[in-house]
Amino acid sequence: MDESQTTHDHDVGRVDPGAMAAVPAAAAPAHAHVLDSVAAFTHHRDIDALDHSLVLSLAELASASRVSLAKRVVGGSEVESIVQCVAGPDGRCRVQVIEPPLADPSLLARLDRRMEQVQIAVEQLPAGYRLSVPMLREGRAIAALEMDSGMPLGAVRPLAEGFARIYANYTALLHESERDKLTGLYNRRSLERQLQRLLQQKDQAQAGPSREVWLAILDIDHFKHINDSYGHIYGDEVILLLAQQMRACFRRGDVLFRFGGEEFVILFAAAAEATVKAVLERFRQKVAGYVFPQVGRVTVSIGYAHVGRSDYPGNVLDRADKALYFAKNHGRNATWGYESLDAAGAIGQALAVGTIDLF
Ligand code: GH3
Ligand code: MG
Ligand code: MG
Repeated sequence: MDESQTTHDHDVGRVDPGAMAAVPAAAAPAHAHVLDSVAAFTHHRDIDALDHSLVLSLAELASASRVSLAKRVVGGSEVESIVQCVAGPDGRCRVQVIEPPLADPSLLARLDRRMEQVQIAVEQLPAGYRLSVPMLREGRAIAALEMDSGMPLGAVRPLAEGFARIYANYTALLHESERDKLTGLYNRRSLERQLQRLLQQKDQAQAGPSREVWLAILDIDHFKHINDSYGHIYGDEVILLLAQQMRACFRRGDVLFRFGGEEFVILFAAAAEATVKAVLERFRQKVAGYVFPQVGRVTVSIGYAHVGRSDYPGNVLDRADKALYFAKNHGRNATWGYESLDAAGAIGQALAVGTIDLF
């Protein structure tokens, strides 16, 4: 199996559609079964687990041999990932997450096409049946589903449509709960989940060049002075403009957080510390060279640290914060890495108390 795919086995009990059709009274357990699946999949508080649960529930309820879910990047049109559930000959379902470049190109093209249309399609294929469902939020497709089965899927259509609507509404809520209202960046509470995800991706990317994970904390210099001199509204405007600059400067795979008032966290993968420092320095200089409306020049201090395999947010934040504290004490408008400071013996007892609140 491909290294980039994660697989989970699940036992899936099958509903016999023939038995349900013959005895109308059997409809009640079927409804209960559907409600059970809805309850199970909306139990998840994290979108990855929700995706797994959705494809599994649909494979089970529709007796589908394959269910594929393609998801678009938030606010964009390209496919971010494909989550697929395939039933094996033993009735066990395997769920895989497939990166788009490794997906079957025809599947990717079909799902992409489905997102350009708002209608559900039911097709008869030489070897079975296919149901394709766009998943819409505010009239725009955020994802698409494709279900294949040896049995006609017409009767399953309302079920798939209902699940698609619940999925779109529920993921909207989950997105909202993970985002900061002012900047739209991830909020502090989603840091742990994102850190775990990045470490998992690193584990799976064994074939490629080794890419370590790093965490950086960025804090605006003398922000109290900005608030005091120009008022909170201008302070907020600086925060917003800084977040926009971060979005423009960092790559798509880099994960950006508004961690606190005027503090930001960046999680990213890079092969070497030199790259990390270069990327952060480029951003620091970009900010220093920008003229903020009314406020003028604003600078930032940055501290970063390497994320080890067994790290958790608390201790890695502590290390990055110590490097940030060093930057604040050495002229501000600077970028420092914990590991090189530590190697040089520059992280002393005096730095034991950090500048930010830890978890
Ligand atoms: P330093 O260079 O040491 O970081 O100095 P600083 O003045 O930036 O100090 P510090 O980071 O400790 O203070 C941040 C201030 O930011 C405190 C608070 O009044 C203000 N602040 C926090 N959240 C917000 C916000 O959402 N909007 C605005 N306008 N101000 C905020
Ligand atoms: Mg601060
Ligand atoms: Mg500050």
